Parts: sequence; C-alpha cells; structure tokens
Amino acid sequence: MSYPAAQQDPANPLDLPLYECWFCPTRWIGFSSLLFHLEDGCCVKKDRIRTLAFECPEYGFYGNQLTDDNPFFCFHCQSQFPQISYLYYHVERSSFCSHLLDKSECLDALRDFYIEYYECPGTDYIHF
Ligand SMILES: [Zn+2]
Ligand SMILES: [Zn+2]
Repeated sequence: MSYPAAQQDPANPLDLPLYECWFCPTRWIGFSSLLFHLEDGCCVKKDRIRTLAFECPEYGFYGNQLTDDNPFFCFHCQSQFPQISYLYYHVERSSFCSHLLDKSECLDALRDFYIEYYECPGTDYIHF
C-alpha cells in the first residue's frame, strides 16, 4: 500500500486512515479515535456505538457480554477491553493483532457495519 505524501503527517506516524464524524464536523485519525469521540459523549451519538457492536453478525469474534465489565476482547491475543474504541486503539498499534483490521476480518466487518449503519447522504467516509 502506498499513501500520498500529504499523509506523512507527524501527528499520524502510523498512517492511519482519517474519518469524519458522521454527526458533527470533526475529523479523526484512526477509527478508534472516531469511536472514542462517539463513546465519550462528546458527540450527539453515544450508546448505540456499544450496543451496535453486538448487532453485527461477527460479534462472537470480539464481544463477550454487553453487561460485562470488559464487553470486548482481541481475538488474536485475548486482551480484554471496556470500550470498543480501546479495542480498535489496541489493534491499530499492535503489529501482532493489526491483521484483525484487514479485509473480511472481524474488526473490518464491524467497521463496515458501523459505516453502513450511520452513513447517510451528505456525510463522507474518506477512503485511502
Ligand atoms: Zn461527532
Ligand atoms: Zn490483541
């Protein structure tokens, strides 16, 4: 994969994809940052982020129980996480676990699930 030179940003040394929030005019480096923004209550949307993760058909690959202290886990290394954004943050930065974001892997499927759920006319998902 190659990225345009403009992507060589010191604020983004991992070259993570950029995402615009679906609901407000903010832009985030990496899907985990967008999810954290939504989970953290800084945006209009909050609770659906967590419950939606369990509505994706792939949830058995990253989800325990919605009511658990740590509802989410990494399929590769079994690390446990209290928020879905923490799981994405983990895999974005772990060379051992980042393959879970690859095409047709579980966290790619969940990302697509969120995007399809929230994407509506007038909002943009930025592809690289
Ligand atoms: Zn927002
Ligand atoms: Zn892991």
